[in-house]
Amino acid sequence: MSNIEETKVTEELVEETQTENTSDAILVVKNLKKYFPVETDFFGRPTKYLKAVDDVSFEIKEGTTLGIVGESGCGKTTLGRTILRLHPATEGEILFEGKDINALKTKEMNALRPSMQIIFQDPYSSLSPRMPIGEIIGEAVLEHKLVDKKDLKAYVLDIMKKCGLPYHYYERYPHEFSGGQRQRICIATALALKPKFVVCDEPVSALDVSIQAQIINLLRDLQKEMGLTYIFISHDLSVVEHISDYIGVMYLGSMVEYGSTQDIFENPMHPYTEALFSAVPVPDPNVKMNRIILSGDIPSPINAPSGCKFHTRCGKCMEICKTVAPKFKDYGNGHKVACHLYSQED
Ligand code: SF4
Repeated sequence: MSNIEETKVTEELVEETQTENTSDAILVVKNLKKYFPVETDFFGRPTKYLKAVDDVSFEIKEGTTLGIVGESGCGKTTLGRTILRLHPATEGEILFEGKDINALKTKEMNALRPSMQIIFQDPYSSLSPRMPIGEIIGEAVLEHKLVDKKDLKAYVLDIMKKCGLPYHYYERYPHEFSGGQRQRICIATALALKPKFVVCDEPVSALDVSIQAQIINLLRDLQKEMGLTYIFISHDLSVVEHISDYIGVMYLGSMVEYGSTQDIFENPMHPYTEALFSAVPVPDPNVKMNRIILSGDIPSPINAPSGCKFHTRCGKCMEICKTVAPKFKDYGNGHKVACHLYSQED
């Protein structure tokens, strides 16, 4: 089969799996679950699961950023990777531009891969130490035939320039760069594939504070210039506030609150969100911080508490919270919360 015929077949297959996209969202996640089996019976059938992502739903509009926050182990990284199909989903739908990516065959998914990229936390381990950065950035571009071979160097140099990397870095190796520069190389590598959607998985956590600001500003500038949509995963709320249009708060694999950044910061409704936000440092020594200290450790996602998963640590816990899981409800302006403190009536 010729290359043109192969491309046509792939396009047709992708169209077959396309479902109607009724909203202006580029990504729609519906009831997504990712369970990892941790125990099996005599016949090898799973009997116990680690519920890393447990029934999560949300949408992201094109050109916006959704920040995902929560303590480590809450499932935010697994959520990002499952959306990109780096982990197969256990259940639920992931619609990217209307295509259900869980239903795509490997070939179709590979055709879609350049559009959906990821930037990792550790820039060093995601860069091959044996290749100069020009080659690292251009490798996948060539693989996906996004640019003619003769134009590749000029294309890579242009992306490097956009990411604040001078052209003479082209022949240099990753070990010659600082952490911030290596993260710029990772960003250039992801953006060289002309993505529409990028999962940024704690991209600045390993960097000094002054470098963090530079990388966040770079991501924002590139978003405007290239119309990118981001999921920005971080445990640092001040960083998330700076870059996000919407915020999703996760606890033990579930989303407990979701809303615009302004709504979430000005009016956090869920007791867990309140506790998280009370720990954000205020840059004014005269302002007294009313920090809410959560008691106990985060429970295991293998044996999550019944009812509201947060009830074992919540200072406002009621009897109903111990047995009945609260609905994830919209309380106006798209601000959703799962908590019995608010009306549960439909
Ligand atoms: Fe606390 Fe109950 Fe709300 Fe859960 S449902 S966060 S336990 S008040």
